[in-house]
Amino acid sequence: MKSMPQRFALKHALFACLFWLAPSPTLAYDGPIVDAHKHWAEGMNVDDVRLRAKNNNVTRFVIFPRHFGRDGITEEVADRLAREHGDIFWVLIGLQKSELIGIAVRGSSLWDWHHPPSEWKSFLAWARDELLSGRRHGLGELTAKHYAYTQGLGAERDLPLDSVIFNDLLRLSAETKRPFVLHAEAEKHVMAALEKQLTEVPGAILIWAHACGRTAPGEARRLLRRFPNLHCDLANMTDTGQYGSLWPRAGSWTYQFEKAGQIIPEWKAVVLEFPGRFVLGMDNNEQKGWVNGGWNRRLNRFRSLLDQLPASVASALAHENAVRLFGPTFTPDSTPLPFQTDTNGTQAGH
Ligand SMILES: [Zn+2]
Repeated sequence: MKSMPQRFALKHALFACLFWLAPSPTLAYDGPIVDAHKHWAEGMNVDDVRLRAKNNNVTRFVIFPRHFGRDGITEEVADRLAREHGDIFWVLIGLQKSELIGIAVRGSSLWDWHHPPSEWKSFLAWARDELLSGRRHGLGELTAKHYAYTQGLGAERDLPLDSVIFNDLLRLSAETKRPFVLHAEAEKHVMAALEKQLTEVPGAILIWAHACGRTAPGEARRLLRRFPNLHCDLANMTDTGQYGSLWPRAGSWTYQFEKAGQIIPEWKAVVLEFPGRFVLGMDNNEQKGWVNGGWNRRLNRFRSLLDQLPASVASALAHENAVRLFGPTFTPDSTPLPFQTDTNGTQAGH
């Protein structure tokens, strides 16, 4: 029979052994993060966003103004966000406009992407001015090929990338050296049009959202090698529901970036080959995702995914790439590229 001190020593050794064998708690990247994919509509509260950012070491947001819908914001509101909150927001030229993306509203007409109207020309001139002045930091998000997840009119979208309007947007990005964020599921016709357009306007800084249209990592690698100004944002690509978990639907062209908290090895290899070409984003629905904890879930998952990368790659993805791409340090070219929509209001080509 063992004495009390012997029993205690045995128990202690057993505990020590179990502790040793137990997996160490998951470490997570705890440095700064830029949320480079945040939509903005009426009802979002700046103070609330600031508080969450402070509590979670999120240093910046890239804001995509949404103009359509009952809670869409006006250009004046977007302008005020840019002017009054430039310390924490980089506000883009919002491309979620009814007349642009085909969401019909009473009193507005839809723009023909192959033969845009004169209003398009005025919009381009205004956008160029905003970008060159540094008041706005890019263009987007343009939801061009979008899978519906509501019954809403225009929720399912397949806008032509092989068009004058898309080409004009690429040229605007190339001229101003400001990023252009695109949402387009990587279906075959999307890939074909995009490759053709990027070949024509290689200077465009295109950020292809959702791990480059949720394409196969091998395809992403091929395009990243071919187009040095192409980038992928990983917005909403955590396997915590929604896009990163193959929602609302998937085809044979749709891939995940991570599964159950582990970066897919093929994607990890692409990230390691191109550490300067990825940014992060939470992409929460303006209201619901913000209040139901979705934003924090994705943020925390990103922190543990970043921990699977070398420290220098983790900080590139977490904040450095976004600062370089969206930050105010660009000097635009002095030679403007002519738009396909020329200055006489007639359209060239296509
Ligand atoms: Zn998107």
